[in-house]
Amino acid sequence: MPAADPYVPGHGNRRFGVRSYALDLDYKIATNHLSARAVLAIEALEPLDRVVLDLAGLSVTRVKVNGRPPARFSHRESKLRIVLAAPAALGERLSVEIDYAGKPRPMPSVFGPVGWEELTDGVVVAAQPCGAPSWFPCNDRPDDKATYRFAITVADGYRVIANGVLAGREKRSGRTTWRYLQAQPMAPYLAVLHIGRYVSTPAGPVEIVHPRGLAVGVGSAFARQDEMMARFSELFGPYPFDRYSAVITADQLEIPLEAQTLSTFGANHAGAGWQNERLVAHELAHQWFGNSLTAASWADIWLHEGFACYSEWLWSEISGGRSAESWAQEHHRRLAVLPQDLVLGDPGRELMFDDRVYKRGALTLHALRAVLGAAFFPMLRDWTAANRWGLVTTAAFVAHAQRYTTSDVSSLITAWVYSAPLPPMTASAAT
Ligand SMILES: [Zn+2]
Repeated sequence: MPAADPYVPGHGNRRFGVRSYALDLDYKIATNHLSARAVLAIEALEPLDRVVLDLAGLSVTRVKVNGRPPARFSHRESKLRIVLAAPAALGERLSVEIDYAGKPRPMPSVFGPVGWEELTDGVVVAAQPCGAPSWFPCNDRPDDKATYRFAITVADGYRVIANGVLAGREKRSGRTTWRYLQAQPMAPYLAVLHIGRYVSTPAGPVEIVHPRGLAVGVGSAFARQDEMMARFSELFGPYPFDRYSAVITADQLEIPLEAQTLSTFGANHAGAGWQNERLVAHELAHQWFGNSLTAASWADIWLHEGFACYSEWLWSEISGGRSAESWAQEHHRRLAVLPQDLVLGDPGRELMFDDRVYKRGALTLHALRAVLGAAFFPMLRDWTAANRWGLVTTAAFVAHAQRYTTSDVSSLITAWVYSAPLPPMTASAAT
């Protein structure tokens, strides 16, 4: 079967779409044991005799389709294959209920281990780009967005954070069930779970979830996050979700990572200083670019990372630091001496998270800003509004941006996004 996305071979299926996930998870922290039920509302995009889902390393004990046993099912090599008792017609909806259990762990991938990960005292999920099957059965394609309901039961004393809004919390016999509702459509790789001994500190419109005793206010990287939220909402359009949390683990993490409605940072990212503050800006910007507007294929990842990186430079400029122009000049100089063998609009999966994707993507936006002048931010706001909670492509972005200028946006994008040699810097974009 051909890959749904060539950057993550073996993941995803194009024959159906998932409209909603309901995940009911019972988790024992001490033994890393998960006992779970997932209910997926699936729509057949062509006539189906089977449903093939991604699920790694856990044991499936029972499957029902529309409340009845399927003809048969098998679970091998991270694929759950369910042969339907009766074929489904194009457009038909199926309710697929899956009971599964086991000890979740990160999935190996060409990007390194991804997905569910035990911390010293808790759990983090870091699934980009293909780790979602490490903890729930899914159609692991970035372009198959669905709504999510979570019910996660853990021992008292731990806080659980999932995507969306907290919809309820029930205590029983020393355990607490945490319910979250993610009502806006979400790609599977953006679904996350945090379990830890956390406290929550509100900071204006955002929430900081952190270990007790870790400083997250004045003098930390998060001190101006509420102001970031306000300024990015002016520049990019209204914040696209109901909530935003920055979750800081007690453990050190290699890199922070965005998820829908929240971002994950390690304790090592909390200290003051530009190197951490830029990460706080970067992850927040992903709520617009990556989470609300998700690239339909991973080849277009510059639509996430280039925009988030440019948001760092914008925050620097508007918060009284170096201008975006200054950052652009510096990073252009740095890129100019690196190998020019990367095509931004299709870097290949090995180079998908190469720093050149981030910096050249940001430079592309800076070049576009020079051409559009005062129309640049209205163009961005219209882009986020027109595609809110949807899927985007470079071609759609070019067509969109072209409406704001008589200059040829296509040739600019061809040079920056579809050709390997680094174009020269254009005149200052400051307006
Ligand atoms: Zn990023």
